[in-house]
Amino acid sequence: MKVPQISIVAPLYNESESFPLLVKRLTALMDSSPLSIEVVLVDDGSKDDTAMRIRQLALTDDRYHGVLLSRNHGHQLALTAGMARARGTEALFVIDGDLQDPPELLPDFYKLYQEGNDVVYAVRRKRKEGWLKKTGYFLFYRMLRSISYVDIPLDSGDFALISRRVVDVLNKMPEESRYLRGMRSWIGFKQTGFEYERDARVAGESKYSLKQLLNLAYNGIFNFSEFPIKFMSRTGVIAILISLVYFIIVVIKKLFFTQVIEGFTSLLFVIILFSGVQLLALGIIGEYVLRIFFQSKNRPLYIVKEEIINREYI
Ligand code: UDP
Ligand code: MG
Repeated sequence: MKVPQISIVAPLYNESESFPLLVKRLTALMDSSPLSIEVVLVDDGSKDDTAMRIRQLALTDDRYHGVLLSRNHGHQLALTAGMARARGTEALFVIDGDLQDPPELLPDFYKLYQEGNDVVYAVRRKRKEGWLKKTGYFLFYRMLRSISYVDIPLDSGDFALISRRVVDVLNKMPEESRYLRGMRSWIGFKQTGFEYERDARVAGESKYSLKQLLNLAYNGIFNFSEFPIKFMSRTGVIAILISLVYFIIVVIKKLFFTQVIEGFTSLLFVIILFSGVQLLALGIIGEYVLRIFFQSKNRPLYIVKEEIINREYI
């Protein structure tokens, strides 16, 4: 096999059901494409037979490479593991293993790459998902964009074609709480969007638990925005200003009108409100401390259990 120009990287977690169709579509794509393509499939500690299927495939077809992680490390780290091992000399095509990102779009992405774009990211025109999830995503991306210091494009996930030089930078970023779409934007170079309609899953349920999804959202907010910290100091300043004004009013009342200072309810309200604000502020600092804590341990991001990689052309 020739040295691949393009690596397709897909993380899989319990995707046994959609696996045969994924392989069928990827193989058809490789057979029909004039490009030389390799596929790196990462098993993220699946509990079903995904890992075994990947191993079997990689042993029989040398265009496929298997990377099996020691346990479930999460989508972002599985992708990171795949990206570190992909050898495509021109670019990496990052897709989901559940076929929500049609691999057949590779030629369209590649064309934009050839026109000089280092990153071609997919922009979802329509989602075939429940309204709750859709609304959540819609609001989150807009909120993140408004508070982020990085220009993170709206409605785009990890589905993208990324040039070799950008991948090299990504591979060198040791960030622990990874939010790859943010890191990708942060790197810069010429980036452009490609609109597509996101398909529904071909089989099974979403493998992202609500906790994982919230974690990803948190990583986006805390790693790509200074807003939470700024929010604390701003709230502090506003509180001080309000209390000063209130103090002046009370003094004037006392001096010129000798009125009795009013009540208990407002006092209680203010105490409760600012206890809440203080706890929130502590929690926000905690988020940053936690991230520093984990980063400073310097643990490897993920652990690979087994690799089935065809080394013929190295
Ligand atoms: N995935 C993974 N590890 C996980 C969760 C998900 O590797 O802990 C994979 C999953 O198999 C799929 C991709 O990441 O190929 C996207 O996950 P999913 O389809 O569940 O997310 P959704 O599309 O619902 O956001
Ligand atoms: Mg999916």
